[in-house]
Amino acid sequence: MKKIVIILSILLIIGENCKAQRKEERPNIIMFLVDDMGWQDCSESFWKEKTAFNKRYHTPNIELLASQGIKFTQAYACAVCSPTRVSFLSGMNAARHRVTNWTLRRGVSSVQEPKNLSMPEWNLNGVQAVDSIERSVYVTPLPQILKDNGYFTIHVGKAHFGAIGTPGANPLNLGFNINIAGHAAGAPGSYQGSNNFGNNPDGTPKNTWSVPGLEKYHGQDINLSEVLTKEAILAMDSSLKNDKPFFLYMAHYAVHTPIQADNRYIEKYRNQIDDEIEAKYASMVEGMDKSLGDLMDYLEKKGIAEKTIVLFMSDNGGLSAVGRGGEAHTHNKPLSSGKGSAREGGIREPMIVKWPGVVKPASVDNSYLIIEDFFPSILEMANIYNYKTVQHIDGLSFVPNLKAEKTSSEERVLFWHYPNNWGPIGPGIGASSTVRKGDWKLIYYHADRSFELFNINEDIGETINLAKKETKKQKELAKILTDYLKSVDAQMPIDKRTGKVVEWPSEVL
Ligand code: CA
Repeated sequence: MKKIVIILSILLIIGENCKAQRKEERPNIIMFLVDDMGWQDCSESFWKEKTAFNKRYHTPNIELLASQGIKFTQAYACAVCSPTRVSFLSGMNAARHRVTNWTLRRGVSSVQEPKNLSMPEWNLNGVQAVDSIERSVYVTPLPQILKDNGYFTIHVGKAHFGAIGTPGANPLNLGFNINIAGHAAGAPGSYQGSNNFGNNPDGTPKNTWSVPGLEKYHGQDINLSEVLTKEAILAMDSSLKNDKPFFLYMAHYAVHTPIQADNRYIEKYRNQIDDEIEAKYASMVEGMDKSLGDLMDYLEKKGIAEKTIVLFMSDNGGLSAVGRGGEAHTHNKPLSSGKGSAREGGIREPMIVKWPGVVKPASVDNSYLIIEDFFPSILEMANIYNYKTVQHIDGLSFVPNLKAEKTSSEERVLFWHYPNNWGPIGPGIGASSTVRKGDWKLIYYHADRSFELFNINEDIGETINLAKKETKKQKELAKILTDYLKSVDAQMPIDKRTGKVVEWPSEVL
């Protein structure tokens, strides 16, 4: 008996020591979030084979990161910017946080309603860390929790969290220690320093899209992606001087419109690609990749690469319905459609995680996961437990996947809810709710109550709608989707023709 007590005591002491040690281990974390980058917009393949797009783009640093980390081939975000960014910041699914479309002006939707639907009262003022702002979601933001636990939290680039004139428009009000170039708008007036990044010649803002706070680079022949990288490095430097771990949210404006040449790379692509817009786009992709390389070089140079986790992700699918060269809806092939769509091209993202000493280099995980999973995952990586949030967290940690303790996710169910209008038209674009379970994906379109059912494993291009054939599977998924939407009190549009709220998916089968 005495022996058992001694052994138990020793185990307890070891346990406490481990806990204490764990608490002190605070790796640096870089979240490298690209804007509007498609699943095929790099030379690293996220599919079973290299595609023509993989051959078109040149992203050696994404390839390097993949060789050092784990690649997720089925990582999802929402179909447009703000819902993804709010899910990242809050850990909530879009159906629950209700910032279901892109935000900009306080109290005003920037998108016209479609012909047959009235939009619900969605949270068009975005995400807030205070509960006093109308039509917004009140949350305890991820960077706030990191800051409260000793991290120096750095925001660089595109914020797009809260509407103009609300506290959430400023990342400093969402738990960031410093903010470089982030505000309410989701695109830059210009990527060119020679154009003052869309500001007036005297440096004052020209309009909503003028990038704030980079005056020292105005008038220079320098690209916004490079400027953001330089500023991020200065911010990491100040964090190291203070001997604090850092959380760098490196949210590039690239490769969102306006599609403008990155002068460092454009000539190469003009020689390779006939279409001028596409050549410019490819140069922006490489400029973004150079930023990733510069940050990784910095980590090596400072001797901190081994204790820094790098997460790579995009916020929605590649733009394809408008504004691109070539044929519309083809820029994410083999995936169907692009940004704004519930089809894979709108929501599937290139994702990589490098975690030295934990993740097996050059590994691949085919489990599916979604953007709100980053919230609990990053906190677990930071060894922060027992945190309190005002919001319910929907995301699940993917840390077990990183440790190769879990690879299968057949039972996981993912949901998307977009009861809004994006604007352009195309496959899978329009107000909809979507569920993915196992190989199956069901999309429910609010305007005409139609369904699309795809077997994603067998038909990655979503070319065969099995809704009429696989009626049992359709019903099963419609019920799962309905139960979920009801459980989070999801908003549905109103049908203008009847004046009634659009039915839940299971009610129309
Ligand atoms: Ca975006």
